[in-house]
Amino acid sequence: MPSPNLNNILKRILKQPTAPFHEYHVRAEIEALLKDCPNVKLKRDKFGNLLATYRNGKSKSKPTWVFAAHMDHPGFVKPEGATKRDDWEFLGGVPQDSVDAGVAKGLRKAKGRIATWNFPVKITPSRIEATACDDLTGCAAIVMTFLELAKLNIQTTVHAVFTRAEEVGWLGAWHLAQKWPFGDDCVFLSIETSRPVNGAVMGGGPVIRVGDRMSIFDREAVAVLMTTAKEQAIRVQRCLLDAGACEATAVQAAGIRSAGISVTLGNYHNLDESRRIAPEYVMMDDVKSMINLLKALVATKHDGIGERTIRERVEMRMAEHAGHFEAGSKLFK
Ligand SMILES: [Zn+2]
Repeated sequence: MPSPNLNNILKRILKQPTAPFHEYHVRAEIEALLKDCPNVKLKRDKFGNLLATYRNGKSKSKPTWVFAAHMDHPGFVKPEGATKRDDWEFLGGVPQDSVDAGVAKGLRKAKGRIATWNFPVKITPSRIEATACDDLTGCAAIVMTFLELAKLNIQTTVHAVFTRAEEVGWLGAWHLAQKWPFGDDCVFLSIETSRPVNGAVMGGGPVIRVGDRMSIFDREAVAVLMTTAKEQAIRVQRCLLDAGACEATAVQAAGIRSAGISVTLGNYHNLDESRRIAPEYVMMDDVKSMINLLKALVATKHDGIGERTIRERVEMRMAEHAGHFEAGSKLFK
């Protein structure tokens, strides 16, 4: 069977209904896509997060990365013991008046014990539109990266985690960080979609986040991301995306080195500019560049960051300007 292409993967994952704590359709689809992938082993942790490790030979990138995307999206769930047909609770950060207006417009569609906004997946060469680009695009990008590594028979080791219940306070990521099933040399990398702020633009390449609303991220990890993008001529943006907080904040707070990359997102959490319920969208080029960056991170060797360290730079300058230092210093009284 030929391996699925990016459009297939996006379509298969983005069409799955999902909500906080009800990520089973998404998880099953990711498992189906990765189960026969060479060099990939799948595992579920006690919280229900899906863990995947790609291991081919003994090589590892430095650091060894743990790519992470969340499988939920703000949506309606049926509370335990609910009996009435209309007994829904909305979980995730969306203003209640917008939710109510969306329901009144008939945009809600139920499936079992969850209900989501009923928008179709639309994929064109330039754009991806769906109910839950956040963060099913991130899930799809990681799946595509793993399939490509296998197809190219790349010798490396990389982990991935597909988490539950991010939208209600990073619960899956928190569980992962408490148990941390990966090595001490591993760095957690949140793969997200985010509202463009502070100069970030849609279509300008994936954003290497220096931080989010609550934390700043590991400076060495951010440097490796920037250097890798530069070496591979991948267009990226480097910004503080502080319109929200991502799983890197939770995992870092638990003591694990963390960083984040985001694809900029239109209609964040299904709100258009007038706060009406609408499909989310991302730009295809941003997603493709992010996949290229993820591949480059694990497939190329970085001994250090491939550039002079800050210490080396300052020491070189000190040596270079020793004469000026002497000359000027003599004139201090
Ligand atoms: Zn998200």
